Amino acid sequence: MNNLNSDIVFNCKNNINYLQFKSLLKYNNDIVHAIGYNNDYAIKENITNKQNYLNFCNELGIDYRKLFNIKQIHCDKYIFANLNTENNQEYDASITNIKNVPLLVKTADCMGILVYDYKNKYISAIHAGWKGVLNRITQKTINDMIYKYNCDSKSLVICVSPCICYNCFEVDKDVKDMFDNVFDMKYYLTEKGNNKYLIDLKSIVIDDMLSLGIIKDNITFSGYCTKCSEKGFYSYRKDNTEKRMSSIIMLK
Ligand SMILES: [Zn+2]
Repeated sequence: MNNLNSDIVFNCKNNINYLQFKSLLKYNNDIVHAIGYNNDYAIKENITNKQNYLNFCNELGIDYRKLFNIKQIHCDKYIFANLNTENNQEYDASITNIKNVPLLVKTADCMGILVYDYKNKYISAIHAGWKGVLNRITQKTINDMIYKYNCDSKSLVICVSPCICYNCFEVDKDVKDMFDNVFDMKYYLTEKGNNKYLIDLKSIVIDDMLSLGIIKDNITFSGYCTKCSEKGFYSYRKDNTEKRMSSIIMLK
């Protein structure tokens, strides 16, 4: 698995900041992808600085009007998106094999997970916060990519946006107990005392991916924490912000 900063390309053009993964840039002829991190996608009022967001989409060569947006509710359901699938339905992931359908997930501490099957030309965008990890949204979505849509686990390339790190994701006993019911937490937990625990969401998600036969070297985490890195990523835990980073992937 890669998580070195050298796996990431940071772009800053005309006040538009976004990062891209080298492992997906290899397929730039077939897909476009980016994690926008100052594009002011605020979840409650939808897009607050629309011009900034339009510029971001233009920069990527994406038609803003075609963005496929889901109303993320921390569930375990994905939707297959085609050209006229209704926007803003309650799902936490989307899959498509149709060109020019840009899949979008919004995050501020949660994982924005972009998936590409370079052999079968399928893509997915997954929103996984701690509830999504608990609900195994990533595993369920990728499982269906493989067993329902005939993707090949060996040709899946997966990249994960900046998200909250192990040291920053502190929870109380109630949340820890929920994880205990689903996972063997001796591998993923640090007890801090005073009923506080740290949970290693990243390792849980990686193990879920590996259990589906995904090649470890095809999984890349950004290596940046939204809360404790100095990059200025939006972090709900740090700032209580309504702003969201935008993880986008589209088949050309
Ligand atoms: Zn951190």
